[in-house]
Amino acid sequence: MIIPIVAFGHPVLKKKALPIENNYPDLQELITNMFETMYAANGVGLAAPQIDLSIRLIVIDGSALSKDYPETDGFKKVFINPEILEESGENRLYNEGCLSVPEIHEDVSRKERVKLRYFDETFAERIEEFHGMRARIIQHEYDHLEGKVFIDRLSPLRRTLLKKRLSDIAQGKKTGAYKMRFAKK
Ligand code: ZN
Repeated sequence: MIIPIVAFGHPVLKKKALPIENNYPDLQELITNMFETMYAANGVGLAAPQIDLSIRLIVIDGSALSKDYPETDGFKKVFINPEILEESGENRLYNEGCLSVPEIHEDVSRKERVKLRYFDETFAERIEEFHGMRARIIQHEYDHLEGKVFIDRLSPLRRTLLKKRLSDIAQGKKTGAYKMRFAKK
């Protein structure tokens, strides 16, 4: 089932999401729905707050980027209650976009490696390190669980320049080519 994606300006995107227990109701169905929603919008990652669920759950499939970023080949994963243990390496710039912020792409600086503790879809605990585009996608989605979007990582000047376009998104004047949900509608 495809679920509408929450647009920038919706309060759920500013909330710190809460961890879930392994008896969370219909978790497998939710994961399936999140993948379906993400694929339908041509995304490579989706965090639960983006479907108006303030819980610490992320789905990722970076395979679509594997031509340019080979490390994403077969990178399809579910992250439950992830916790960043360490970020390391050089700061790298990459032009990011977000399903909640349609048509805006901006360079965001992030560290090239991230070490993560998380639970997989079977609720097995894992500690793993990711690099390159794998790390980038995780860091972007993880921000959603912390109540942040990539816009929050831009300079105040860049944000000011984007103000009009962001308010158009928040008011539903600008939408993606997929089902969206707006705060003010
Ligand atoms: Zn996003």
